[in-house]
Amino acid sequence: MKSYEQLFIDGRWVAPVNRGRFDTIDPSNEEVIASVAAATAEDIDIAVRAARKAFDEGPWPRMRGAERAAVLRRIGKGIRDRLQELAEIEVRDNGKPLPEALWDLGDAAGCFEYYAGLAEKLDEHAETPITLSDDRFSSVARKEPVGVAGAIIPWNFPMLMAAWKVAPALAAGCTMVLKPSELTPLTALELADIAANADLPPGVLNVVTGLGPDAGAPLSTHPGIDKLAFTGSVPTGSRIMHAAARDIKNVSLELGGKSPFIVFDDSDIDAAVEWIMFGIFWNQGEVCSATSRVLVQRGIHDRLLDRLKEETRKITIGNGLKDGVLLGPIVSKGQLDKVRDAVERGVREGARLVTGGGRPAHLDKGYFMEPVVFANVSADSWIWNEEIFGPVVCIRAFDDEAEAVRSANDSRFGLAAAVMSRDLARCERVARALRAGIVWINCSQPTFTEAPWGGYKQSGIGRELGEWGLNNYLETKQITRYDSDTPWGWYIK
Ligand code: ADP
Repeated sequence: MKSYEQLFIDGRWVAPVNRGRFDTIDPSNEEVIASVAAATAEDIDIAVRAARKAFDEGPWPRMRGAERAAVLRRIGKGIRDRLQELAEIEVRDNGKPLPEALWDLGDAAGCFEYYAGLAEKLDEHAETPITLSDDRFSSVARKEPVGVAGAIIPWNFPMLMAAWKVAPALAAGCTMVLKPSELTPLTALELADIAANADLPPGVLNVVTGLGPDAGAPLSTHPGIDKLAFTGSVPTGSRIMHAAARDIKNVSLELGGKSPFIVFDDSDIDAAVEWIMFGIFWNQGEVCSATSRVLVQRGIHDRLLDRLKEETRKITIGNGLKDGVLLGPIVSKGQLDKVRDAVERGVREGARLVTGGGRPAHLDKGYFMEPVVFANVSADSWIWNEEIFGPVVCIRAFDDEAEAVRSANDSRFGLAAAVMSRDLARCERVARALRAGIVWINCSQPTFTEAPWGGYKQSGIGRELGEWGLNNYLETKQITRYDSDTPWGWYIK
């Protein structure tokens, strides 16, 4: 097996040109897990050229979908065969509790298997006949791979975010250069190994580890890339969109959010507390779709807050590899500082800190923080409006449905939203009124490979997952034929 000090380019493990390295840290104990290859622009150029050659000359885009599907299924199986080991690597790199990592890894395998199915379907459905208004012509719309894709992914779901991009791109017949986050690079390198063992042709998937400005930026500006797929923060997404603008690259962005959760007063309080907690505390709240703004109808506000405080205080915090841990460390020192600053800012802004915010007394090492509940959060405060990306939930009371919908939609983001009530007609009505790409009714967060994922407004452009995710990596070509024996007769009469 490779060392983490190499990049995976053109089907081989190679050292970065300038031999650069960086350390990846275990956030539960602040120890170095591994030294990892740090790519720079020269390595990115080599990787993009390999992907370009694999696309322009290699077998991958020319294979039948069913042949690509067989490789994708082998990748899925390769993940499943090593599920426990990969999940443990993910926990050490990212900090999340092991059951959540096992869940992610299972979903990642499932994502490859799902897109294998769509690759097979492409064989029959790549071409759709079109009825034209002029019957002297016939036409088909044909789906073709968009070309070489560059994927830049974040640290919150390292393997799963890789799968969300690699699986549909490969199913479509694209080739790819994948750059994982420098905070969590390990499972992407393992994925490269799994892909190589699955007989993926050389150059189809290239994995380059490195820092954002040194490796991500040259990938986003490289003229050999046809499509950029990014998941991460709004400022970096904006930079990537700028980079894409120069060469008019196809771009899809999955960015941040400040997703609302509306709880009406006919809801079961324990069910509401459960989903509010899952919506903001799973994965340490480091979730783009986290329902971090909770609007509770006044009739149950105080009772709900008491239960939420009680349950939040019971959460077991610790090393994600330990049995029973439900909240691991924040991914890095830098991220912990950002979350702490946000909590201090909330207090300064006058919100009521109901619970949390300190370092758990039993943990003297690691980037740990007690989960936070804020109440009486004012609508114009920073913590109500900005993404914190940590285990911090903000609560406000509301009086009626119209006010709840207005407050929920009053955001520059629009990734997800949730609504809870026993009145399903009301839930369905509110779901349609919310300006968000994903709306959950009577739950928050469950995510399915088959369903579209992506945001309105500043939360992004395009949709991942499902058939929408495949379309991200497909171009549409029309092929139109003149079928008539009658001469066209414009110039030559
Ligand atoms: P965070 O600040 O929480 O790490 P980012 O959105 O900056 O979130 O990171 C997401 C991904 O974007 C990572 O893989 C990171 O390396 C990459 N990245 C960061 N800066 C740039 C950049 N200027 N150009 C391209 N990619 C970048």
